[in-house]
Amino acid sequence: MGQGVSIIVGRNTMTMQFAQARPGLRECPDCGLFQRLPEAPGSAVVRCPRCASVLRHHRTNPEGRALALAVTGLILLVVATQEPFLGLDIAGRDHQTLLFSGPVELRAQGLWELAIVVFATTVVVPLAKLLCLGWVMLGARLPRWQRPRHLRRVFRWVEWMTPWSMVEVFLLGFLVAYTKLTDIATVQVGIAVYALGGLMLVMAAAEAVLDHEAIWQALDRDRIAPAAPATPAHGELIGCDTCRLVCMGLPGEICPRCDSSLRARKPASSQRTWALLFAAALLYIPANVLPVMTVISFGRGAPDTILSGIIKLAAAGMWPLALLVFFASITVPVLKLLSLSGLLLGMRLHSKGRLRERTLLYRIVDAVGRWSMIDVFMVSILTAVVRLGAIASVTPGPGAVAFCSVVILTMLAAGTFDPRLMWDAAGRSTTRIAAR
Ligand SMILES: [Zn+2]
Ligand SMILES: [Zn+2]
Repeated sequence: MGQGVSIIVGRNTMTMQFAQARPGLRECPDCGLFQRLPEAPGSAVVRCPRCASVLRHHRTNPEGRALALAVTGLILLVVATQEPFLGLDIAGRDHQTLLFSGPVELRAQGLWELAIVVFATTVVVPLAKLLCLGWVMLGARLPRWQRPRHLRRVFRWVEWMTPWSMVEVFLLGFLVAYTKLTDIATVQVGIAVYALGGLMLVMAAAEAVLDHEAIWQALDRDRIAPAAPATPAHGELIGCDTCRLVCMGLPGEICPRCDSSLRARKPASSQRTWALLFAAALLYIPANVLPVMTVISFGRGAPDTILSGIIKLAAAGMWPLALLVFFASITVPVLKLLSLSGLLLGMRLHSKGRLRERTLLYRIVDAVGRWSMIDVFMVSILTAVVRLGAIASVTPGPGAVAFCSVVILTMLAAGTFDPRLMWDAAGRSTTRIAAR
């Protein structure tokens, strides 16, 4: 058996069964191949030889750079929330807004679900991610014996929060809203927009300089290396879903590096993915049939669905924007629903063909899903800015809530799908360690 460590919680003693670490080994998160990671110099990218998934991106001094970027990001986020965001001037009347105005107005209009999602993805999650990242980077610079125990848990949160921080998608939503507005009024772009632009670049840079493996190694406990040879091997090779350390142990045992519970594959992956896809497909109907917003300008206007909004953009000659919204709001959700269903069916039929391409398709579906939020952010911005009574007003519609639900459900579906099961179903599952 692995190492048992007794932890006293209140009056109960809980025994955590730690699996044995196999440092130097790595499981590909996309195809499940176990392999030895080569020591690569500089900023080399290490890819899986079977499916070409990126296993590690080596970076020099990731802690120092990520810490500097996290602090810069926090300053920019504070500026973005305090300074004016967008102003509108129609027929001599003007109206100024802050970054918070969108969620506040959505809540006032009764769409509190949308208000929560917009507020969370544009302010709360980026703020929490930057705070946690800065804290971990600061802690990782301390001598090993001074590092607080909770750093690993906090870094785990950073990994989970990443897809839900949507500053860059929000800015694209802003671009669409801005172009629509310049058509009807004089628009004043506030300092907050520039701060958000800076924040987007800083967060992208922080993600790019982060060598996750190096950080996990820095947060490592002494529990890992010396333990392995002392006890006999048991169980099977399992790669940790969170920190990617490979251990010898049984599912349910604890990863000695990040304290996550180990599991060979995501639990009930295909059932959960099917259920989420089914719910998303059902909601896709009201998302496209119900109006997402109603624009009234000088007493004229009508409710717009996603498609009629795109047609209006195209009719006004804004072709690039119309294509962008069409791609993000119509193509991407349909692509996600069809692709994930296709991948699940292929798995069910034990298909052996084009595994590498199917894995790549999954990676694309997983990466592009969040960009569908453009329309939701656009509705939030327009609702907040265009509040000039009879002269011009924008009211959000129930279609926006349904559409936002579709985006979130398909993102969750991509998260519960386990691409390694496609390789298992094709008889390519292996605990063989690939020679490099
Ligand atoms: Zn692979
Ligand atoms: Zn782990």
